[in-house]
Parts: sequence; C-alpha cells; structure tokens
Amino acid sequence: MASAYEYETHKYDVVVVGAGGAGLRATLGMAEQGLRTACVTKVFPTRSHTVAAQGGIAASLANMGPDNWQWHLYDTVKGSDWLGDTDAMEYLAREAPKAVYELEHYGVPFSRTEEGKIYQRPFGGHTTEFGEGPPVQRTCAAADRTGHAILHTLYGQSLKNNAEFYIEYFAIDLIMSEDGKSCVGVLCWKLDDGTFHLFSAKTVVLATGGYGRAYFSATSAHTCTGDGGGMVARAGLALQDMEFVQFHPTGIYGSGCLITEGARGEGGYLTNSEGERFMERYAPTYKDLASRDVVSRCMTMEIREGRGVGEHKDHIFLNLSHLPPEALHERLPGISESAKIFAGVDVTKEPIPVLPTVHYNMGGIPTNYWGEVINPTADNPDAIVPGLMAVGEAGCASVHGANRLGSNSLIDLVVFGRAAALKAGEILDPNAPNPAMNYKAVDAAFARFDAIRYAKGGTPTADLRLEMQRTMQADAAVFRTDKTLAEGVEKMKAVASKIDDLSVTDRSLVWNSDLMESLELTNLMPNAMATIVGAEARKESRGAHAHEDYPDRDDVNWRKHSIMRVEGANVDLTYRPVHIDPLTKFEDGGIDLAKIKPKKRVY
Ligand SMILES: Cc1cc2nc3c(=O)[nH]c(=O)nc-3n(C[C@H](O)[C@H](O)[C@H](O)COP(=O)(O)OP(=O)(O)OC[C@H]3O[C@@H](n4cnc5c(N)ncnc54)[C@H](O)[C@@H]3O)c2cc1C
Repeated sequence: MASAYEYETHKYDVVVVGAGGAGLRATLGMAEQGLRTACVTKVFPTRSHTVAAQGGIAASLANMGPDNWQWHLYDTVKGSDWLGDTDAMEYLAREAPKAVYELEHYGVPFSRTEEGKIYQRPFGGHTTEFGEGPPVQRTCAAADRTGHAILHTLYGQSLKNNAEFYIEYFAIDLIMSEDGKSCVGVLCWKLDDGTFHLFSAKTVVLATGGYGRAYFSATSAHTCTGDGGGMVARAGLALQDMEFVQFHPTGIYGSGCLITEGARGEGGYLTNSEGERFMERYAPTYKDLASRDVVSRCMTMEIREGRGVGEHKDHIFLNLSHLPPEALHERLPGISESAKIFAGVDVTKEPIPVLPTVHYNMGGIPTNYWGEVINPTADNPDAIVPGLMAVGEAGCASVHGANRLGSNSLIDLVVFGRAAALKAGEILDPNAPNPAMNYKAVDAAFARFDAIRYAKGGTPTADLRLEMQRTMQADAAVFRTDKTLAEGVEKMKAVASKIDDLSVTDRSLVWNSDLMESLELTNLMPNAMATIVGAEARKESRGAHAHEDYPDRDDVNWRKHSIMRVEGANVDLTYRPVHIDPLTKFEDGGIDLAKIKPKKRVY
C-alpha cells in the first residue's frame, strides 16, 4: 500500500523539527554557520508552547547585585537533586550570559533597569554564595511575556539568515540508515494540502518539546505530545530519566491553565471538601507556600483520602475571595481573567478549582552537551548516533536531572540550540553529498501512516487518549507508592496494547485532525510507558520522583540515569552513569568540586 503515496524530496544540510525556542535558536545558528537549513513545524513558529513562558530566563549577568556562573551551577546541581550531568550543567551556567546577550543583540526587548541594563527578577531555588546567601535576581525578563519576545525575535532572525520554513508540516517518522545506526532524514505530511515530503539531511535536529499531554491535567499546549520521543522510540533509540515529571500545584481543573505561585504569594490558600486549610497540617511553617513538590503531594493525599472537592471529589479549591478586590485587580489581573475564562469563576466571590498539573518533562532524548543524541551501549554509555541531535524540552542533556529550576528551561533552549549549531558547523561539510536515502525505511514509515489512516478498530482516539491521561494522572503523578506504580504499569500496558484497536473515521489527507491526533497518540504512548515503568523501578525519592515507600534519596544505588527503550507496551530498562566530572578543572578556573558534592536538599 505504501506505493500509493507520492512524495516530493528535499535536500538540506540540516533539518530542524520544531520551531519553539530550542528549534528556532538551532535553526538560526545553523543558518549562520552557512549550512542549508530547513525548519519543519506542525504549528506556526510563534504558536509553539515557548510562547506561553512568562517568568523569564536565567543567566548570572549580575545586573541587580552580585552573581557568578559558579553560583548558578551550584543551584542547578542542587535543583537537579544531583542527577544532572555536571559537564552539561557547567556548560549551561557558563554560556548562559553569552546566550542572553546574543538574544539582546538579536533584538529581544528585555525589560530594563534604570541604568538601561537587562532587568532580572528573583526565582525559586536561585541563590548566592552556593546556597548560603540570600536569593539572587538572576531571571532576565521581558515583562511577563519573555517566551513570546524570544520566539518573535528568533523567527525574524532565522528568516533574515535565509533559513527555510516548512510550516504546518507534521513529521511522521525519522528515516534511519539501512544498518539503523545513523539518521539520514525525516518524512513529513503537509497538513493543509495532504502532500508528503521526504527530507534528506546530514543532520536532523529534534526540537519537538515536551509530552505534558500524556497526563489529564497539563499546563502545556495540546500540541505538546512528545513526537520526538515517539519517533526516537520507533527508531529503536533510547529515552532517558522519563520518570521525572514536574508538577505545578495550581493548574485550573480541566483546562490545566497555569495559576502562578504568586496567587498564594499574595495570600491565597487551599482548602479541601471540609473547608479545611489542610496545608497547615502538613507544613506548619510555610503552609501554602511550601515548595512546589510538597504542596502538590499534600493536595494529592487529600484527594486520595476522599477529601477532594467537586462532583468526582477529584480536585482542590484555591481561595482568593478573602483578598481585597483592588489587590486582586492590581496584582493578579491575569489570574482573575484566566479563572473567569477557564473555570467560569469570579475570584472575588468563588474559589478556583485546581489540581497539581504537569508542567515540565525533565526526561527526554539523551544527548551530550553539544546536543548530539546518545544511544548508550554496554561498552559505551556515551555512544553518539550520527546525523541526529535533540535540543530543548524534547532532549535530556541532562541539566535538570530530577527537578528543573524555574527559568532554567528557556536558558537551556538557547544555550543548547546554539551549541548544536556550533557543533554542526564544525562537523558538517556543506560540499559533501547527503547520506544515502533508505527507501525501505521510507516505505515502512508510509505503511505505519497508512495503517493508522485506515484503522478500523473499536476504540476512538479521543477515548484511548483519555484513558491514558487518566491512568497517568492517577498512578504516575505526584503520589507514588510501590502499589500504585505496580498497578499503574499493568493498567498502562493494557492501555498501550489498545493502540492496535484504534478507530480513525476521517480518511482524508487535508486538515485531518482525527488522523493527526492519532499519530500524536502513537507518540504520547511510548513516552507515557517509559515514564511509568521508570518510576516503578526507581526505589528512592529524588527531585520530582517522590516515592512514599522510599522517602530518602539513595546515592549509592540510584545516582544513575534511567535508559528506556520502548516497543509497543514493553519497556526495556537499563541505566547509565551520571557525569560527575566538570568540564574545567578547578586549577583552570572551573568549579571547586567540594562545593557541589551531594548533600541533603533543603531550602
Ligand atoms: C505555561 C508555561 C509557562 C512556562 N514558563 C517558563 C518560564 O517562565 N521560564 C522557563 O525557563 N520555562 C518556562 N516554561 C517551560 C518552557 O517554556 C518550555 O520547557 C520550553 O518553552 C519548551 O521549548 P521547546 O523549544 O523545547 O519546545 P516548544 O516550544 O514546545 O516547541 C515545540 C515545537 O516542535 C514542533 N513539533 C512538535 N512535534 C512536531 C512534529 N511531529 N512535526 C513537526 N513539528 C513538530 C511544534 O510545532 C513546535 O514548534 C513554561 C512552560 C509552560 C507550559
């Protein structure tokens, strides 16, 4: 049946899949290196999820008081709960100021201090004096629309440098070489006219973002479906540290739209079905302002013990109505508006229904700090996959380890998008021919596409997606025990098996959202399976992985990266050592290793 599909072939040095902050920074960098570069994206570039980032981007510019890259490195190491790779974290902290100044010169309209320098605000977990001093103002901001500003600037600069954009093209599958060891291209479907496009490239860069939509409640866009992870899993390559999923305590119930921590900062508090301010019981000192993972865990315990609110007793109330209406209007106008639109609630009169909500995926496609994808083998845990890179939330360098600090994602996007371009400039020869196309793999990708297009099973995509999302939300969320995880793995295996029973009703090729969402579901599923299996196996608590039966971190047995290979409902799990050594020796101006030695993580 594969032969029924005709396609056009395109040849580039580099094809970047994704036009969020990471994809655009890589695209711009590649074009600047003189490489013929295409950027393929399923949504218009400036509609990528990066556009929703408000808070800002971390870099030790020291514009608002003392700061240096070693302190940023320390905070990132501690934030990662000692699971991040030290070389990558050093690269991030060191290169961050350079990457931000570049953004400034490209034209990002940062907010300014009175002296005209880039404005920086404080953010959780960012400190001075290696965690001994007061909080630092390290997060550079363009008002409360930093991601928006970055995307618009990088898109304009990419066009100026003659990068070519393929907008509303959906990447179906990677095309690997005949021996399966390297990547030679990617097959895409043009959503608005139903044509197919085979891209041949010396390097494919995956910048497809996170997979928040594997869960029922996520702050991320509906397009965050882990397509890069899905493609990588189907290519027989590895995913890493997928059990680490960051939850934000206050996403609006149902829509998942984010209500900032500032709402509780201004005096908001949480209540259960008995009207009780339950956080007082769990965290007598900080109450509703305990750290994100703690508050999320307490909310989940209340719901599990039957004290959730609403018809299904499955969420919690966030109360703001006791605050003076002027204060709400002045300090939380955006929140008041979001609550109205997404929950139909007037915050001056009623509580907002909220639920701990998936916010970020620390895990992803393993890479080194140049963005080169790694496929660990028994004798080489750092073996590179030629022709394939991954950057941004889709990748795992790993700089966030078990837990990401706020404002460290935007900087990850630009530092590693830039690093990937520098590396490609070094290793790719624009005059060399492209690698041989593997037409068998192209046929196989079409066959998979065709099978989904004509799927005649009994389970509509939306139903199976909901079943996956509810299972992940119940059993692989904040509250994790041996029992819930073991049950969750069994349930998810059953859910994942149903993908063979999918029912797709629209057979057309033009603007077929049924088919696109089905393809996305086949990408979400391996990400979800890897997450729950990795979580079930990890017998410790570290960062976002809080395990009730193993409440402590166990560095002796578990300071290692999880490596998952997913095939259908099966996950093959192995491990890979954490990079402990920094890039630069202390004598040569690097970090004093004694400063970043593992210790208990308290704030
Ligand atoms: C509400 C919210 C607020 C946030 N605030 C902050 C903040 O203040 N500071 C911070 O540091 N971090 C923040 N984060 C996290 C950060 O914004 C994200 O981690 C980051 O933007 C991800 O960027 P990305 O480039 O990796 O992917 P995205 O921006 O998600 O872009 C993914 C791209 O891949 C493309 N794509 C995906 N699949 C395919 C496919 N199959 N075919 C073709 N194209 C495809 C999409 O079209 C898109 O262009 C926030 C996240 C959210 C959800």
